[in-house]
Amino acid sequence: MNVTIIGTGVAGLTCAVEFAERGVSVEVVERSDALGAQSCSWYAGGMLAPWCEREHAPGIIAELGVQSLAWWRQRFPGTVQRGSLVVAHGRDLAELSNLSRRTEGYEWLDGNGIDALEPELGGRFSRALFFKDEAHLDPREALQFLATRLQELGGVIRFGTTIDQASPSDLTIDCSGLAARGELKDLRGVKGEMLLLRSREITLTRPVRVLHPRTPLYIVPRQGGVFMVGATMIESDDATRITARSMLELLSAAYGLHPIFGEAEVIEIGTQVRPAFPDNVPRIRRRGGRIYINGLYRHGFLLAPALAHLAANVVLDGRHYDGRYLGVMDENHREW
Ligand SMILES: Cc1cc2nc3c(=O)[nH]c(=O)nc-3n(C[C@H](O)[C@H](O)[C@H](O)COP(=O)(O)OP(=O)(O)OC[C@H]3O[C@@H](n4cnc5c(N)ncnc54)[C@H](O)[C@@H]3O)c2cc1C
Repeated sequence: MNVTIIGTGVAGLTCAVEFAERGVSVEVVERSDALGAQSCSWYAGGMLAPWCEREHAPGIIAELGVQSLAWWRQRFPGTVQRGSLVVAHGRDLAELSNLSRRTEGYEWLDGNGIDALEPELGGRFSRALFFKDEAHLDPREALQFLATRLQELGGVIRFGTTIDQASPSDLTIDCSGLAARGELKDLRGVKGEMLLLRSREITLTRPVRVLHPRTPLYIVPRQGGVFMVGATMIESDDATRITARSMLELLSAAYGLHPIFGEAEVIEIGTQVRPAFPDNVPRIRRRGGRIYINGLYRHGFLLAPALAHLAANVVLDGRHYDGRYLGVMDENHREW
């Protein structure tokens, strides 16, 4: 069987690897000239946080997130499973209790517990929630890894190419993110802004979320003293610029976590738009001879492997699924 996949974001590349691992001949077409150049995936934080995300997402997100986490761990050596830490400043401590009521898979820590995990934060926070089974990865390394893995499996990626230039195939899987809006009319954009900071003066070993009633933000450590600070959530599909307000909020969150971030270099300012359906739950849809995997919202890395697996089960094994939240559906939301 030959499959053409549109897009080298996390949805397209996980799907490509999943199908190639099952013996399918895969060609991926990407309109831009390089990995990440126009993808939302390039700007992600890379948090694999099924239990933290449970705060605002239905159970299916956590369920698929746990499956995806195992997928990443089995394949990508850059998957770091040291948990995630959630803190709040004194005036916002009620936010921690609110989160604890809406999720599971955590333990409460006091100041000493925080100090034991992240000594640089010792003395700065009195309470935290620790989600020990959560993980994170560097999205750019992960995308590069998937591209290499696909090529090792005999798959091909053609950059600067669209579907009309692809080789003939039995099936097209469209993973073009927000660009599929012309065909998937209920897809919308949710803008996300982020910063990359560099500091050699502070070490964090896991993502830290700072709760706040209006602007909850997080910091994800990467190699080489780099920290991703993210991310805003704005109902907009304008990816052109970060606003002054967002910049202020992101930098304030970093500074509030530790003043040493005041001395950090700002090495990148990023803005992208997440593809989302009205309920913020992804879908696998079929229209004619094409399958769409889309609407990954703020959960692309958390969910893409599980969606790829589901899509491969349906296409290759003819399995059917319950369409409660996430289903395999036609364009009228009928299961198929
Ligand atoms: C700031 C920020 C932080 C985030 N943090 C996290 C996080 O911590 N954890 C998490 O799980 N998720 C996170 N996300 C969400 C995640 O990034 C998205 O859900 C995910 O990137 C969506 O992936 P995708 O493959 O569907 O789309 P994209 O990554 O946008 O990929 C689509 C690709 O298709 C290509 N394409 C489009 N049209 C065509 C065409 N006609 N022909 C060929 N190619 C085409 C595009 O160039 C692009 O490369 C974050 C998002 C943002 C913006």
